[in-house]
Amino acid sequence: MKKHNFSAGPCILPQTVLEQASRAVINFDNLDLSLLEISHRSKNFIDVMESAKQLALEHLGLQNKGYKALFLQGGASMEFLMVAYNLLENKAGYTNTGTWSDKAIKEARLFGEVVELASSKAANFNYIPKGYSIPSGLDYFHCTSNNTIFGTQMHEFPETDCPLICDMSSDIFSRQLDFSKFDLIYAGAQKNMGPAGTTLVVVKEDVLGKVSRQIPSMLDYSVHISKDSMFNTPAVFPVYVSMLTLSWLKDLGGISAIEKINNNKAEILYNEIDRNTLFNGFVANKEDRSKMNATFSLNDASLKDTFDTLWNQAGINGLNGHRSVGGYRASMYNALGVESVQVLVDVMQTLEKKA
Ligand SMILES: *Cc1c(COP(=O)(O)O)cnc(C)c1O
Repeated sequence: MKKHNFSAGPCILPQTVLEQASRAVINFDNLDLSLLEISHRSKNFIDVMESAKQLALEHLGLQNKGYKALFLQGGASMEFLMVAYNLLENKAGYTNTGTWSDKAIKEARLFGEVVELASSKAANFNYIPKGYSIPSGLDYFHCTSNNTIFGTQMHEFPETDCPLICDMSSDIFSRQLDFSKFDLIYAGAQKNMGPAGTTLVVVKEDVLGKVSRQIPSMLDYSVHISKDSMFNTPAVFPVYVSMLTLSWLKDLGGISAIEKINNNKAEILYNEIDRNTLFNGFVANKEDRSKMNATFSLNDASLKDTFDTLWNQAGINGLNGHRSVGGYRASMYNALGVESVQVLVDVMQTLEKKA
């Protein structure tokens, strides 16, 4: 039986998607060829790329609004530098809410002035800063919607008079937002969309072309847009599997349907973390809790071996916290079923009875 996969990333994917993908590896589109051995310029693959881009824009409600979707390589980490390369001329504002924002800031500083407008670093990123002001005249403002490692999530986004850029790697397609507030959204596929190897970038075209520097072709969003995400050989398999996952989500009823499921999963787990006296949540303010990654720990470290044995025996995978936080992290991405969350809660209750 498949394990209950709480892995933070690469993460669980829908079982039907894995089955479809494995069939396409052997015989794609009845071509009697593998998806992996056909030309990326063939009509069959171009159709895959076009559907993937269309589905991404459709889910976000951004079709016909001046946005382009791209499937690039280099991970979300490449976007840390591409964003700045393409958009930072003078000064940009960043919030520092976790390891990934911290890295994004470091890369951006290679290209211009970066002001850290708010940071929760001194508290090991256990909350989302609020109430900071964003000066006018910035080239852009960058934030991270969900802090995968620490288990915090932005539930509100500031108003800006400059382009709003967001790293949504670990909560893209998990909840409804007014995505038209954002000018550039990026997300590594392997958290909530597909396998590792491609990164979705959704960019409003009119924010591009404003910096004076020369941009190498591979790092230039405009080049990728002009070539329909086919400037060079794209990551065919990750793009295909992402397309399948986006179709799966559409069949399910889209973001509004999955959001209800995600809210329910998060509520079940957080209720148990709060109720069960053996556990404590990591995030300081409950309103900052992530509905994708729940971080928690045992109050009594001597129960660790017993708890670890129990959840392993229950078929749970991927529950260990990131080394910078410790404890446990339950990642509840779109493809994780509510029954898996229930299994975890049952294990937490079993531990309570034993302790
Ligand atoms: C995982 C993650 C990244 C890094 O993604 P890569 O694709 O490995 O470069 C960046 N930002 C966030 C929020 C992440 O969760």
